[in-house]
Amino acid sequence: MALPARAWSVTISAHDGRPTVTCSVCHSFAARPGIPVPRQARHHLAGHLLGTPLPAHLRTCQCREHGCVWHRPPTACSGPLALLLICSDNGRTWRLADACRGCSRSIPHAATVPEPPRAAPLTSSPPPAELTADHGEWVEAL
Ligand SMILES: [Zn+2]
Ligand SMILES: [Zn+2]
Ligand SMILES: [Zn+2]
Repeated sequence: MALPARAWSVTISAHDGRPTVTCSVCHSFAARPGIPVPRQARHHLAGHLLGTPLPAHLRTCQCREHGCVWHRPPTACSGPLALLLICSDNGRTWRLADACRGCSRSIPHAATVPEPPRAAPLTSSPPPAELTADHGEWVEAL
């Protein structure tokens, strides 16, 4: 089994005239009316992040794991890892992933985002994947 990795992406498309969010790892769902679709997409990414607690020493630069295709030209993969929110395809694709500082600086439309509240250090019982009020605020800041 592959090591868990913290990298997810969602793509917003239109399906039968309705905005649809397609996730790279689980499923697609129709966007709810009344809420900006990009926000729903980011919420979905945040849910995956919260549901995948990973100790810091197991995190790797997900840009490098994907062959550094997220940026041109290639750059030195170096520096501390941070959580990166990347917007591409004119806002249709959103990606949340661990990336090193070297790659982060080269990826267009990327912003470093803070770790969610209480994500680290890991406790013996993993936190539930539901969004709490704290998490809600954190997500809104994305
Ligand atoms: Zn998903
Ligand atoms: Zn890279
Ligand atoms: Zn890197």
